[in-house]
Amino acid sequence: ISGTAALHLALKIINISARDVVMIQSFTFCGTTNPVSYLDAEIVFIDSEEDTWNMCPIALQNALEEYKHKSVKAIMPVHLYGMPAKMNEIQNIANQYGVPIIEDAAEALGSHYKSQKCGTFGEMAALSFNGNKIITTSGGGALVSKNKNYIDQALFLATQARDKAPHYQHSQVGYNYRMSNIVAGIGRGQMKIVDERVAQRRANNKRYHEFFADVDGITFQTEPGPDYFSNYWLTAILIDPQLTEGLTREDVKVALDSENIESRPLWKPMHMQPLHEGAKFYGTGVCEELFEKGLCLPSGSNLTEEQFDRIFTTLKKIFNK
Ligand SMILES: *Cc1c(COP(=O)(O)O)cnc(C)c1O
Repeated sequence: ISGTAALHLALKIINISARDVVMIQSFTFCGTTNPVSYLDAEIVFIDSEEDTWNMCPIALQNALEEYKHKSVKAIMPVHLYGMPAKMNEIQNIANQYGVPIIEDAAEALGSHYKSQKCGTFGEMAALSFNGNKIITTSGGGALVSKNKNYIDQALFLATQARDKAPHYQHSQVGYNYRMSNIVAGIGRGQMKIVDERVAQRRANNKRYHEFFADVDGITFQTEPGPDYFSNYWLTAILIDPQLTEGLTREDVKVALDSENIESRPLWKPMHMQPLHEGAKFYGTGVCEELFEKGLCLPSGSNLTEEQFDRIFTTLKKIFNK
């Protein structure tokens, strides 16, 4: 299984088909959207807001209002880079329109909002244990739900939808999405060190904050208040060329690259992808600007002092510090 497969199962379980609509945060990885495409449902993309960079409740409300006579079957917020989305507002709107939430918590294991863990807000949620995530089983993922019926159905579908019979009998299409016992064993070990990994990622984030405190034109994806706790899976910054004497996100990336330091642009919004050309988008373009100005800094849990020295020496040169 993977995070993507977990989302596919979740959508199958609530019976999404080609006649249905799913509302998804545009600012995300294709792992959120591809499972909806597998089922040929229509995707309506929702903008981000500036506080968390996640699903904008106002844009969501506008989209739901316009689609209230269509078959909207799910809302999919994402907790990007570990930052919890505004789940209170999103849940209130979802309840108002009677649409279930399927949460993409692939990047947010260990994060919480109002003391509630990310991955426990939706009817179902997906976690990912892919190699780059906060804990990993090399590749893997999990479907999370409080609803026993959903979990039973997920286990059934993930093991080739085998009916209860002494022989191999099937009355519907299933998947081979079961996690192997070796992967599960690694995962159980990894679960014990989640807190440690979160602490390491948050320490990385703090170091970058301290470094950039006196640099103009740099802002961070930051917890908007005490209700939010991010695992800071990746530290993401915005670079405003109007305040950095023209230095752009791309300039910084190229300069880091030349020292063999990897940084990455933020996710390119899905409504801007060739794959989703012509899809509906609700919002004012906040996520487009985030994409234009944003950069993920090196954020591994295992960054050494020497590596940080090298990163900061290079950044000092780039920012004339
Ligand atoms: C990693 C990721 C996924 C997919 O997880 P896999 O385990 O790689 O399939 C989905 N959504 C987001 C936001 C992710 O970062």
